Amino acid sequence: MAIYEALQATKNRITAACVSAGRPPEAVQLLTVSKTFPAQAVREAFAAGACAFGENYVQEGLAKIGELVDLRGQLEWHLIGPLQSNKTRPVAEQFDWVHTVDRLKVAQRLSEQRPADLPPLNICLQVNVSGEDSKSGLLPADVAGLARQVVTLPRLRLRGLMAIPEPGPGAVAQHQAMAALFESLKADGLPLDTLSLGMSADLEAAIAAGSTMVRVGSAIFGARS
Ligand SMILES: *Cc1c(COP(=O)(O)O)cnc(C)c1O
Repeated sequence: MAIYEALQATKNRITAACVSAGRPPEAVQLLTVSKTFPAQAVREAFAAGACAFGENYVQEGLAKIGELVDLRGQLEWHLIGPLQSNKTRPVAEQFDWVHTVDRLKVAQRLSEQRPADLPPLNICLQVNVSGEDSKSGLLPADVAGLARQVVTLPRLRLRGLMAIPEPGPGAVAQHQAMAALFESLKADGLPLDTLSLGMSADLEAAIAAGSTMVRVGSAIFGARS
């Protein structure tokens, strides 16, 4: 399927999922995940109407941002992969969002390194909602504490939470646990507006639970090699 058709089909899935959940379609944003696909594919998706792109690997993302510098003012770049504390500077300088903050040290460095002439860097805290040892992210019980520290950092804007639920029979419970955690932080007064949850395979379930941003790669660009 061409990128244009695949993007329309994905938007239709999002709209249908919102309608069945009784939510307005504009409640859910699409983040187009371009990891492993070349800058030309991003250009095509942009021409087809996508404007926010997710990258997993810092070096690959920076290279693409460089290749697409002519579109810089019209695109948002989101880092959705792990970030080590020694790689924060170019991320603070070049990206618009980081979805994978799970340690205060990384947040502090991003805040210190965010250039003063740019808007604050948008941040989601990554939650290890499946509890697997291999997954990065905070344990749910530790999220509120880090959120209270991150909101005080001047060059960051804490937007919400991100998770990658483990596919399978427990996925719905994980989506619901993330939505409940998100709502409880908001009820405690944190000014959050983003629940980054749902990918190509589970976006309907994520939207039913309350996701506000789905991260979709293969359904738009095809299978990754
Ligand atoms: C690759 C990736 C996605 C997109 O996954 P698809 O199944 O291709 O839609 C979303 N989020 C994260 C964190 C990813 O690494």
